[in-house]
Amino acid sequence: MNAEELREQAHKMVDFIADYYKTIESFPVLSQVQPGYLGKLLPDSAPTCPESLQHVLNDVQEKILPGVTHWQSPNYFAYFPSNSSIAGFLGEMLSAGLNIVGFSWITSPAATELEAIVLDWLAKALLLSHDFFSTGQGGGVIQGTASEAVLVVLVAARDKILRTVGRTALPKLVTYASDQTHSSLQKACQIGGLDPELCRLLKTDSSTNFALSPDVLSEAISDDIASGLIPFFLCANVGTTSSTAVDPLPALAKVTRTNNIWFHVDAAYAGSACICPEYRHFIDGVEEADSFNMNAHKWFLTNFDCSLLWVKERSALIQSLSTNPEYLKNKASEGNMVIDYKDWQIPLGRRFRSLKLWMVLRLYGLEGLQAHIRSHIAMAAYFEELVVQDKRFKVVAPRTFSLVCFRLLPPPNSKDNGNKLNHDLIDLVNSTGSVFITHTVLSGEFVLRFAVGAPLTEVRHVKAAWQILQEKATALLQIYH
Ligand code: PLP
Repeated sequence: MNAEELREQAHKMVDFIADYYKTIESFPVLSQVQPGYLGKLLPDSAPTCPESLQHVLNDVQEKILPGVTHWQSPNYFAYFPSNSSIAGFLGEMLSAGLNIVGFSWITSPAATELEAIVLDWLAKALLLSHDFFSTGQGGGVIQGTASEAVLVVLVAARDKILRTVGRTALPKLVTYASDQTHSSLQKACQIGGLDPELCRLLKTDSSTNFALSPDVLSEAISDDIASGLIPFFLCANVGTTSSTAVDPLPALAKVTRTNNIWFHVDAAYAGSACICPEYRHFIDGVEEADSFNMNAHKWFLTNFDCSLLWVKERSALIQSLSTNPEYLKNKASEGNMVIDYKDWQIPLGRRFRSLKLWMVLRLYGLEGLQAHIRSHIAMAAYFEELVVQDKRFKVVAPRTFSLVCFRLLPPPNSKDNGNKLNHDLIDLVNSTGSVFITHTVLSGEFVLRFAVGAPLTEVRHVKAAWQILQEKATALLQIYH
């Protein structure tokens, strides 16, 4: 790595990225290429001789960007957001520059210590109980994704119960969650060697706004115990993927406590909102949880990937995930004086991810982050109001944060229950390239999701997206019977 070459080329790259952001609205939000497009544009083999950066950047502009879906576009309203910010970007850059691999404290003490400090800062901002702080028996750790977070706590909970009931009881362990829970839980069960049939996805419906009923949970647990099975894990949600439903944490906590079940709270998207005092109540009851997760890379201005996991009992994670080969032994670890995050996660190697989160917290401050969250929630409320005013549409689930779930109503006497109509509507809208929204299914109904959360989104983008939706709805309704 030649420092002067780096300086020159990195400046060019920064200029390229800044120009990308300047012109981001000129690209179709959803990439419009066909599968296999890139193979037709790139050579069959790697170059034998070095090429110039300019050459590569030309290819990025002409060949790669057409195949990019622009998650940072202000017209991006799909899935959940994946925030980028100047602070997050600079933190990533610094992390790439240092390029350390911080699996044990000794491999870069600052990486481990900054991670523990920044997660304690955030635990404080979220008003988590002291049990979740690294200064107690617990602590926070940065995982790559919420999927890894739920997997590691599931494995910790599995091993904890098996230490009591014996390892042969593995096929009897039962996991609980609502049917709205993200599929990462099922994947975790598969990887964790649990019987996939015993991952109970308990039914929810619109009567509870798609939240898990504590009575339904209690009943399922009683049935399973009566059948000789062993309940051991509940994954509750604050902000489900489909409709941002919030499970009643305090009531669920009571059930888990009575039955000695590990209580995990997945707030991958909505956890960020809970740094605002007016939204903190959505995680009331988290003090009873064993683990809590939010993705800073979704809605917290921190570039992907950065999933924050707090546990109350770090020893449970460590007992499941630690290894101690000779070649990694060192005085600090042997003396039990330090955190070795390799024992809190799946891989050995780990990036210096806390740098970007630290930079986000310092360059925006909690007030800046709160303003970010509030502006998106206000824009989503505005969009919801627009939908309510147009009687051809219906809001189908309560808007709790910055996601609006809605659908176009089928005309009277239509043979279609509205599912095909809304399917066609989303295809038409997304094919314009001017906006990108995605869908879900709630109670058998195909529903459109409008998730506000891209940092560049302003009210004018929300208005423009709604105008496209209305225009395409008008066009479709003319041909529907
Ligand atoms: N949990 C919830 C509620 C989500 O919405 C998502 C993704 O959108 C996940 C978990 C999985 O997130 P990740 O991609 O970080 O694994």
